[in-house]
Amino acid sequence: MAKKGEMLYAWTNDANLAKKAECGGAVTELLKYALESKTVDAVIAVTRGVDLYDAVPVIVTDPKALDQCAGSLHCGTILLSKLVTEYAPKLAGKKIGMVVKGCDMMGVLELAKRKLVNLDNIVMIGVNCGGSVSPVTARRMITDKYGVDPNKVTKEEIDKGQFIIEYEGGHKGISVDELEEAGYGRRSNCRRCKVKIPRQADLACGNWGVIGDKAGKATFVEICSEKGATLLSKAVAAKKLSTEPANPKGIEIRAKVEGAMYKLGDKWRKHDFEALAPVLWETIAKETSRCMKCYSCIDKCPVCVTLADKFKQPSLMIRPGVLPADQMFHLRRFAHIADSCINCGQCEELCPSEIPLALFSHAIRTEEDRLFEPKLGKSAYTN
Ligand SMILES: Cc1cc2nc3c(=O)[nH]c(=O)nc-3n(C[C@H](O)[C@H](O)[C@H](O)COP(=O)(O)OP(=O)(O)OC[C@H]3O[C@@H](n4cnc5c(N)ncnc54)[C@H](O)[C@@H]3O)c2cc1C
Repeated sequence: MAKKGEMLYAWTNDANLAKKAECGGAVTELLKYALESKTVDAVIAVTRGVDLYDAVPVIVTDPKALDQCAGSLHCGTILLSKLVTEYAPKLAGKKIGMVVKGCDMMGVLELAKRKLVNLDNIVMIGVNCGGSVSPVTARRMITDKYGVDPNKVTKEEIDKGQFIIEYEGGHKGISVDELEEAGYGRRSNCRRCKVKIPRQADLACGNWGVIGDKAGKATFVEICSEKGATLLSKAVAAKKLSTEPANPKGIEIRAKVEGAMYKLGDKWRKHDFEALAPVLWETIAKETSRCMKCYSCIDKCPVCVTLADKFKQPSLMIRPGVLPADQMFHLRRFAHIADSCINCGQCEELCPSEIPLALFSHAIRTEEDRLFEPKLGKSAYTN
């Protein structure tokens, strides 16, 4: 019986699934087993839509259909947590399995704090996440930096710090650092993110630390809860998955990569927040003056849930027929999410006026954390 805290290499025993999966296929196999064994009634995962820039969330109840979801879509910027509430009436009382990146996991935890989901009914299979690339940026980046027609790209992956594409006629990799210096690469909220291994999920799965003959063929699994340990043990007992203890050198490498990603996150926080410091209020005022009151920042936020409708009602801050939105509308929203913003970036990603809302709310949240947790050090605005 696997135990909480253990780290393993795991891989599917299904050869067809292994071909489609990102590395070992453990994530898909575990979710399939969860459905087959009726541990869960439905799974929320992601599948490829019209092309590899189009990540589509799906609810799956047939285990076989999960094979369609195997593989990682690095241009998939959707947040899965809010979908749980959107589908809640349909899923009420049901057990759900979910694939969660760090932001998805934090979103689910915020919903749980607000008693909108019951964590006892959710199995979270976490995937490590170094960050995702916005589909629009990805298309521009592939055209400008790779000199390739984005429509000709058949596969993308992020490996050893490079964003690699395969296309008709070849493949090409460019370092993510170089891309980001040129203004491309990961979304800015992902650059600042420091939740790279989702340890509050039941299992945290990734490719960091898989070395030797298992490199590229196994999933690195860290068991984070008893629920995760039980699911994995049962899937192994049912001969769906094979496992072996993670190579100690691989564990060391994974920890080093995580540490390096932490430092990179700090670097980007310093870069983004310091630039904002002397002009925070002026920048918020200028940028939000483009707001057209579509409210998508509210609708997709996993924190603005209980008050979402109230926020939109006519008030001192919401004057019907008046554009742009009153600045107090944004200030009130920032205040509301100040100590809970999870930096998922949805508000910014979906804003049709391209207002850098996630930057503002993440800066405010980070500052709040510093006030209450002195060990976090000096202010991003002053050091
Ligand atoms: C955007 C992104 C960045 C990642 N970055 C890293 C990293 O830096 N280091 C690391 O160790 N691992 C990273 N991973 C995880 C890694 O790519 C594999 O998902 C993981 O190792 C599990 O492999 P597997 O073969 O078991 O997964 P599979 O069996 O292939 O299953 C993959 C699952 O991921 C889901 N999925 C695919 N795209 C998305 C998406 N955009 N959002 C949410 N779910 C999605 C699918 O629904 C599927 O269920 C990242 C994954 C994603 C999605």
